[in-house]
Amino acid sequence: MHPDLVFRSAAVFDGTGADPQVMDIGVTEDRISHLGAVPAGKHEMNAEGLALAPGFIDTHGHDDGAYLRHPDMTFKLSQGVTTVVNGNCGFSAIPAAANTDWRRANGGILAGLQGDFTDLEGYFNAVLAKAPAINNMMLVGHNTVRSLVMGEAQSAPTASQLAEMRAHVRRAMEQGACGFSSGLIYKPGRYSDTEEVAALAEEAKVTQGLYTTHMRNEGDRLLEAVDEALRIGATAGVHTHISHHKAAGEPNWGKVTESLQRIEAALAEGQQVSLDVYPYTAGSGRMIEYFNLQNINQDLARVIRLASCPAFRAYEGRMLVDIAAEEGRDLAELVHSILTAPRGDQTLCIQFLIDEKDIQTNLRWRDMMVGSDGIPNLKGKPHPRLYGTFPRILSRYVREQGILSLQEAIRRMTSLSATTFGLIDRGQIREGHFADLVLFDPKDIRDEATYDEPQKLASGIHTVVVNGSIAFQLGEHRHAGSGQMLRYRRDAFPK
Ligand SMILES: [Zn+2]
Repeated sequence: MHPDLVFRSAAVFDGTGADPQVMDIGVTEDRISHLGAVPAGKHEMNAEGLALAPGFIDTHGHDDGAYLRHPDMTFKLSQGVTTVVNGNCGFSAIPAAANTDWRRANGGILAGLQGDFTDLEGYFNAVLAKAPAINNMMLVGHNTVRSLVMGEAQSAPTASQLAEMRAHVRRAMEQGACGFSSGLIYKPGRYSDTEEVAALAEEAKVTQGLYTTHMRNEGDRLLEAVDEALRIGATAGVHTHISHHKAAGEPNWGKVTESLQRIEAALAEGQQVSLDVYPYTAGSGRMIEYFNLQNINQDLARVIRLASCPAFRAYEGRMLVDIAAEEGRDLAELVHSILTAPRGDQTLCIQFLIDEKDIQTNLRWRDMMVGSDGIPNLKGKPHPRLYGTFPRILSRYVREQGILSLQEAIRRMTSLSATTFGLIDRGQIREGHFADLVLFDPKDIRDEATYDEPQKLASGIHTVVVNGSIAFQLGEHRHAGSGQMLRYRRDAFPK
């Protein structure tokens, strides 16, 4: 049988961490059909001198709405990413009500979210109708569930509210979500106690899914927050995944070492725990979440740059301190005026709070995965992680700093994340696996996105294949529309 697509003489990194092997790979329909001796294909590609790997898996996306607004998903596809896990930090497209105020329900970070779906299957149908470029795996978010059931209440749930929230989580799990996510620094998650979160995380157990968390604190109380995350996972009896592991704020730099030790201890006791990191020294999020308007934190304001600022577009891409100096204004007053302007609550910012050494410590940890945490609001100057995360790991931390080998970095970004997040027949180059592939130049791959020019596509990515179709090649989007809606440890929806 002649394959549809053949890569000749590629250095094949199979995703397991094994050394590369130069060989031929054949793809038939949506699967890898041949390895080694491959007959002539309908479409032949000479891949000599290039690396062929499983498509990268972004374990931490906020693309729930982007799949609807930007189904081409260029910012991920162009990095070699073929699957994104979404619904992170407690914010997910689902569950929703017919009258959902999308912006309120999703904390303003899920740009583009709209539609009349209410559950995961409805959302999957809405996304499939857009023929998305890449695959999507979903979490169900605590903040979204809580807003739907309890509005902005700061109290603990009543027994019936808790039962209603549990039912929403269970339904999403049964429909194929890979887990339950929390974002405990955000509203309304911050109003919940450990018991509430553990009770809801327990619903992920019906399918042996995950509890993923943007922890309650990533700075002064990082270690206490890690303890809480581990306690929730242990109480609920589910795998705990800590998102974007970091120690924010200079006084806390270095704490990631102790945090990783606690995780090691939990692993040694048999608990299932995993983590991911993004390779940048700045975080990003909705600015209003970080400030108390009655008492503006000036130390924080000093390290902030504006990403998207609908009220003052001219401020986008600029540090708050520079704007304040130029306009002769008090920093606190500037922050206040930005956040209280019309649509000021939609302002997205970038905070330089992380130590480069901590990123290295994280990446040296044996099973650290990679999640972009990109926020796909393309107006203004988004954090460059949206377009650059995966090539940056391979250029900066593999090629330049030698923190990890190429085969190991690929394992962390493919088979490890596929196994952890329940992607069936993906994450490895094996006969019978789905043909999600990235062909790149290991000597040349590099992130080009910067804080000043955050939407520049990475270089060195040659070809990206999604479910057997060439989706991206030599800088050109092929509009194959071959992305699938993945269900945890099951076939893709709706099979
Ligand atoms: Zn987060």
